[in-house]
Amino acid sequence: MKGPLVFATLIVAVLCAQERFDGHQVLRITARDEGEINLLEELSQIEELELDFWTEPVHSTLPVDVRVPSQSLEMVKMYLDSHSIHYSVMMENVQDVLDEEQQGMFGARQHQLRSTDDYDYTNYHTIDEIYSFMDMLVAENPSLVSKIVIGQSYEGRPLNVLKFSTGGSNRPAIWIDTGIHSREWVTQASGTWFAKKIVQDYGHDQAVTAILDNMDIFLEIVTNPDGYHYTHVSNRMWRKTRKPNPGSSCVGVDPNRNWDAGFGGSGASGNPCSETFRGPSAHSESEVKSIVDFVKAHGNVKAFVSIHAYSQMLLYPYGYTRTPAKDQAELHSLAQKAITDLASLYGTRYRYGSIINTIYQASGSTVDWTYNQGIKYSYTFELRDTGRYGFILPANQILPTAQETWLALMAIMEHTKANAI
Ligand SMILES: [Zn+2]
Repeated sequence: MKGPLVFATLIVAVLCAQERFDGHQVLRITARDEGEINLLEELSQIEELELDFWTEPVHSTLPVDVRVPSQSLEMVKMYLDSHSIHYSVMMENVQDVLDEEQQGMFGARQHQLRSTDDYDYTNYHTIDEIYSFMDMLVAENPSLVSKIVIGQSYEGRPLNVLKFSTGGSNRPAIWIDTGIHSREWVTQASGTWFAKKIVQDYGHDQAVTAILDNMDIFLEIVTNPDGYHYTHVSNRMWRKTRKPNPGSSCVGVDPNRNWDAGFGGSGASGNPCSETFRGPSAHSESEVKSIVDFVKAHGNVKAFVSIHAYSQMLLYPYGYTRTPAKDQAELHSLAQKAITDLASLYGTRYRYGSIINTIYQASGSTVDWTYNQGIKYSYTFELRDTGRYGFILPANQILPTAQETWLALMAIMEHTKANAI
């Protein structure tokens, strides 16, 4: 085959390999009591329905969002009606929303990237594009930014972390990660914007300058690179890692249930087919273990922020136990300050509190482990929105999401600088 023909064939192959979501709907179910939650829990156990719970059916104070494949819609709606469980259709056809997202991305790829000024921060990008962006940012700002590789993903991709540092030796550090759940695309996009923002503000913005004159910032933008690549080429709805599970046809582990903090307890699944599968053992996933090793070897991380979407929440430990974190009062008031700053830009409203009190019990999550390591300022964000688009947030919301989140991050970072060093 001639070059162009090979290329065309490859394109067709890639397009055909993409899982489609024609006629899939996202239902928002509002359970009135624990009995209805139990019924939803039972529904979620029926693997043949291939339901994708965007929010878990855990207690009745939060709505349950679930993507239902077209072939299961009738059954699921009948089930809900027969039990008089209330629901509404939040997304009429998932594929329509994905098609719009794809069109935006193809439009964004028309021009060659020459500098990080040319990067289209208002659109979603592939892992190759984000990794190129990182290299370019380092090349443009060698005295401020460097790239470290903390490990490799299961499929062998580098786990790249940007280090923002103005010198010193092992300065107190702030860690930020985005995209540990691969389908939460607004997080990787925001992380990219944060990287550029730090570079632009250093030497110009007094607060950012003061932070970087005393501390280092580490930023892992694509924390689950195999999953992220997979969301682009195979299945936009992929959340977990891509490591096969022996004895199961289901692939991947939930990297936010894989940490050694209450590992194996309630609020995670032992079923490899579950979206919250905790994995065979704590830190079994190299994407998790690499951060664990980094944090331990560094020994001077003072704040750790792990960024997810969606729900608009700012959460602190614990998730695996009802025992309050010993710094709960301080973590709570700082969270309140952070979400107030966030809301000042566009009025976006966040809930905040401990994981277990604000969402639900979750064992083996990132910030419970970091908190137990002595990193007092351990926070998890759930960015926009509250469910209208869920994981498929339109690209025109990337910039406002990143900008408002930055204000909350600054509140956390400034407080850390003032109190932890
Ligand atoms: Zn997540």
